[in-house]
Amino acid sequence: MYKNKTFTVKITDLTNDGAGIGRIEELNNLAVFTDGALPGDICEIKIKKANKNYAYGELIKLIEPSADRIKPVCRVSEKCGGCALQSLSYKAQLKLKRGIVINCLERIGGIKNARVHEIIGMDEPYNYRNKAQLPVKKNKRDPNKTDIGFYSRRTHDVINIYSCAITFGEIKEIMQVFRDYFEKNKNIVYDESKHTGIIRHIFIRSGYKTGEIIVCITANLKQNENLPDDISLINGFKKIAGLAGIILNINNERTNVILGKTNKILYGRGYIFDYIMDKKFKISVNSFYQVNPAQTEKLYAGALELAQVSKDFTCIDAYCGIGTIALIFAPFVKKVYGVEIIEQAVADARENAEINNITNAEFIEGKSEQIIPELVKLEKIDLIIFDPPRKGCDIKLLEAVISAEIKNIIYISCDPATLARDIKILTAGGYKLHGVQPVDMFPHTMHVEAIVLMQRQDT
Ligand code: SAH
Repeated sequence: MYKNKTFTVKITDLTNDGAGIGRIEELNNLAVFTDGALPGDICEIKIKKANKNYAYGELIKLIEPSADRIKPVCRVSEKCGGCALQSLSYKAQLKLKRGIVINCLERIGGIKNARVHEIIGMDEPYNYRNKAQLPVKKNKRDPNKTDIGFYSRRTHDVINIYSCAITFGEIKEIMQVFRDYFEKNKNIVYDESKHTGIIRHIFIRSGYKTGEIIVCITANLKQNENLPDDISLINGFKKIAGLAGIILNINNERTNVILGKTNKILYGRGYIFDYIMDKKFKISVNSFYQVNPAQTEKLYAGALELAQVSKDFTCIDAYCGIGTIALIFAPFVKKVYGVEIIEQAVADARENAEINNITNAEFIEGKSEQIIPELVKLEKIDLIIFDPPRKGCDIKLLEAVISAEIKNIIYISCDPATLARDIKILTAGGYKLHGVQPVDMFPHTMHVEAIVLMQRQDT
C-alpha cells in the first residue's frame, strides 16, 4: 500500500544484522528497517516492502547524517555482508555494543542494573581477522569473469573484492592466485542454483604470530575426482610467504554449509600453528579457532581474571574446540576437562596438551549436554566454562550444572540474546550474576562478545 512512497525518518537504533530502525510518523509510527542508515541519521527512505507491523526501506538520501558517521575504509562496506558498521566511528560502535549487552540482560534476562564493565576494544580495529571464507561465482554480466568476495547483505550475490579492511593482508595476493587460475580454467566455478560446476568457496586461515597460512578449496567433486589443473594453483601459491598447506575439501551436497567432510592435502599440511599467550596451538581446517587473535588474548585473560581459580579447582571447558581455554587455565588448577563435538578438534586439543607439556587436561569427544550430566555425577566440579556457538547452551546442560550445584560459572558468549536467556535460567536455578565484561572481537560488524561470572547464591 505504501510501497515506493518516500518518507523522512530519524534512525534511533539498529537491528541485529545492522539495519537502521526508524519510525514513520505519518504512518502511525510504523517501524521501518533500512540498510545503510545509522543511529542519529535523519534520512529520506523509500518503502520497498510493508506489512501491518513493520516495513523495509531503501536509503535514498541522508538529510542530516549522524554525528558519529565516518568515511568507511572499504568502498563496498555499505553493501558487503561482512561489515555493517564501518561508517560508524569505532568509539560509537563500542558504545553501541555495550548497550546491546545491557539491553539483552534487561529485556531477555530480566536483570536490571547488572555490573557491565566498559567494553574492551582494539587499538587498531582493522585487518584483524585471521580467517576468510570467500564464495566464488560467475559474474552476472560477463560469464567469462569470476567474482571472488563476500555475499552482499541478505543475498547470495557475490561482491567482487580485491582487498578487505578487516581481514589479514595476504588475502589480496591469495585472491589474485585464484583470479589467474579462473582466467585459465573457465567454467570451473560452482553454480548454486543448478548444482553444477566445481569450486564453491575459498577458505583461508592464517597464524597471527607464526604467519603460517593454509588455503582450502571447497569443491563439488566426487570423492575420487581431482581438481582440474591443480598444478597451476599449487605453483601460484608457492610465492605466498608463510604457505603451510593447500587442501581440497570435497563438498558435493546441496547445502549452505561451507566445509564438507573429506579433506585431501594438495600441498604441505592440513593445519597451521599459532600462539595464544604463551601456549602453542595446532589448528586443523575443520576445527574452530577464534577469528580475532589479538582480542582472544584479552578475552581469555579476562575470563581467567573473573574466574579467580585456585590450585585445588577441578574445571570443565564445555565447548572446548582445540582446547585453548582449557590449556590456558590448566597451569592454575588441579584438573581440567574439555568437551567438544568435532572429532578433529578433540584430536587437536589432545595434541595441543602434549605440545605444551600439560598433563592435567583431559579431552572428551561428544555433546556437552550428554557428556557433562554424567561427568558431574562422578566428580565434584568447582568451575564450568561455557563458550557455546551462537545458539547458546543446551537446557539439559544448564539443568545438570544447576542440580550438581557447581559453584562457579564463566560464560563466554558471542550472542547476548542467548546469553541473557541462559542467565535467566541459571538465575532461577540459584545463581547470581557477578560481572559482565564485553570484549569487541568483531569490530565493524554487529557481533558482540561478552564474558560473565555467575556464582551459586548460597556460597
Ligand atoms: N572455546 C573454544 C571454542 C568455542 S566455539 C575457543 O575459544 O576457541 C564453540 C565450540 O563448540 C566449537 O568448537 C563447536 O564445534 C563446539 N560445539 C558445538 N556444539 C557443541 C555441543 N553440543 N557439545 C560440545 N561442543 C559443541
